[in-house]
Amino acid sequence: MTVSRPSGAPQRPIYLDYAATTPVDEAVAEQMVQCLTREGNFANPASRSHLYGWQAEEAVEQARLQVAELINADSREIVWTSGATEADNLALKGAAEARRRAGKSAGHLIVSAIEHKAVLDAAQWLAEQGVQVTYLIPNRDGRVDVQILKDALREDTFLVSIMHINNEIGSINDIAQLGAVCREHGCLFHVDAAQSSGRVPLDVVAQSVDLMSLSAHKMYGPKGVGALYVRRHPDVVIAPQMHGGGHERGMRSGTLATHLCVGMGSAAQLAKDKMGSEPKRIAALRDQLWQGIADLPGVRLNGPVEERSCGHLNVAFGGCDGEMLLLSLRQLAVATGSACTSATMAPSYVLKAIGLSDELAQSSLRISLGRYTTEEEVAIAVSHIREVVEKIRK
Ligand SMILES: *Cc1c(COP(=O)(O)O)cnc(C)c1O
Repeated sequence: MTVSRPSGAPQRPIYLDYAATTPVDEAVAEQMVQCLTREGNFANPASRSHLYGWQAEEAVEQARLQVAELINADSREIVWTSGATEADNLALKGAAEARRRAGKSAGHLIVSAIEHKAVLDAAQWLAEQGVQVTYLIPNRDGRVDVQILKDALREDTFLVSIMHINNEIGSINDIAQLGAVCREHGCLFHVDAAQSSGRVPLDVVAQSVDLMSLSAHKMYGPKGVGALYVRRHPDVVIAPQMHGGGHERGMRSGTLATHLCVGMGSAAQLAKDKMGSEPKRIAALRDQLWQGIADLPGVRLNGPVEERSCGHLNVAFGGCDGEMLLLSLRQLAVATGSACTSATMAPSYVLKAIGLSDELAQSSLRISLGRYTTEEEVAIAVSHIREVVEKIRK
């Protein structure tokens, strides 16, 4: 399937916001359209009484296996959701409620202070229900030190939720090390890995993960679908947050969207196949971009230099206002802070947590690269940024 730009359409800016969302890969879209119309695989995957339903179920189960294989899980451990937001909510609220149902106290939850709002707001809601919440402050590189986690653990800690790759600065946590601490302590470990698929290897077994959130639209799949990995073990119990037909082994009711599941499965398969080459190519482009602007006065890199996601570049332009920069960089589609907070003028809580002043946080931009970024686009971005920054400074 080829989609061409209608002739005469205005030239769009270069897309450098892959951390906010990615376009659907053409190969993925092709699989998805086979699951929509009457000639295709359109049926309800839960229909057990006819061939249509069986075929839809088969497609959904194939996709479930593809998602499972991306993270070294069993397909029975994958619960479909509407995205990582829902998966995060299901993990946190589901674990808290399962504990309460077992007749225990509300207990203690640990999250990092730079989690996505889907985790932070769910934790806040749980705090209102009586759960005690500890927020771990990351180090200046945006990573959670293992000792800080160890010090925060309590006898009634039932869940630790720490993200893999931070969506704003691209810092990567040592999930295997943190997971081992949680496993030894006997509490559940949830990882928001929405930014990880296709960027770094994921392995729920080697990394001692009990619950993992994934999102299709961050890995060249469709919006509106994600998954929660739930480890098959008697200690890992999640109470459903959506009640209905008892789909997804009772953990998440609702008719499965065959085209979305198939899209996510196909995207996961592609991400796995490209792991050997794509991150390297994107990291080289990211470095090319950074080296092209690093010598500008007042410019500095936010977050770690090493151990950083291949696609993320978060840059402070000291002395330039972020909003002004964004408006002036007309040839680029980039973000201030994260997409979820750019509607407000408040400086990014992530950048503040790693030690930036309000002013520097407000003069920062997130530039994120991906599958379709080219060397030529990076060259244009470099000269455009140089031109605009020099003009603003004058
Ligand atoms: C995008 C993102 C989410 C939310 O995912 P949706 O599928 O859009 O709901 C959660 N956590 C992180 C780290 C993200 O980057």
